[in-house]
Amino acid sequence: MVWIDTHAHLQHKPYTTDFAAVLARSRAAGVSLVLLPGTDLDDSRDAIEMATRHGDLGLIAAIGVHPHEAKTFSDTVAAELRALALANRSCVLAIGEIGLDYHYDFSPREVQRQVFMDQLKLARELDLPVIVHDRESTADCLEIIGQAAEQGLLREVAGVFHCYSGSLETAHILLKHGFYLGFDGPITFKNARKALEVIAGCPRDRLVLETDSPYLTPEPHRGHRNSPEYIPLIGAKVAEIWGCPIEEVAARTTLNARTLFGLKDLKDG
Ligand SMILES: [Zn+2]
Ligand SMILES: [Zn+2]
Repeated sequence: MVWIDTHAHLQHKPYTTDFAAVLARSRAAGVSLVLLPGTDLDDSRDAIEMATRHGDLGLIAAIGVHPHEAKTFSDTVAAELRALALANRSCVLAIGEIGLDYHYDFSPREVQRQVFMDQLKLARELDLPVIVHDRESTADCLEIIGQAAEQGLLREVAGVFHCYSGSLETAHILLKHGFYLGFDGPITFKNARKALEVIAGCPRDRLVLETDSPYLTPEPHRGHRNSPEYIPLIGAKVAEIWGCPIEEVAARTTLNARTLFGLKDLKDG
């Protein structure tokens, strides 16, 4: 079985000492490709640096400013992100993670909304899909996505709502706008309800898997550092919900991730 982890922060501190071992175990578990999302300009540079250095090990990158860091965004940062994307076409495959986070409110909401829109424009200009982070901000996310759609800023393959936690009703609106839905470790938790309903109702060609490492570790490793090697545990839960063999989930979600990030025509790895 071949898997893709569409969201893992392997360039972050928890992996500095044993990054190579984590990646080796992930590949042994069948994870052929891992996408490293950026959270601010420096972190985006780190993602590119790691993906370039270890591209042969199946690493790709996304660059962008996370809503937590929205207050660091400026025209200069936008110009730097644009230059990075253009100079690293083969490894920068998305803009993200971008969006809104009203749980922590680390940046003023007004600033988050503006920076989200600015980066949707940047993604359109670069013809890249977006990786959207939405935490307790779904109504505003939908409003901004609606405005972006009206302005022609969404590609046919618009991007992914990562760690999707919304309702099935919201999911259908996002699917209509060309978004995929990303699911993580929490779907393996005992108290998971809403996500399971969304997975059951989501078209199988629009679902991707992600770990969001080092966060959101699936059962039975909950409480420990997460790793792309646990992707099959999330896949197993999806197989249970879909009532199909796990091989089918691996093949389906891998193909979906390839379509989402424009990797369809590339060979494995
Ligand atoms: Zn996120
Ligand atoms: Zn993340």
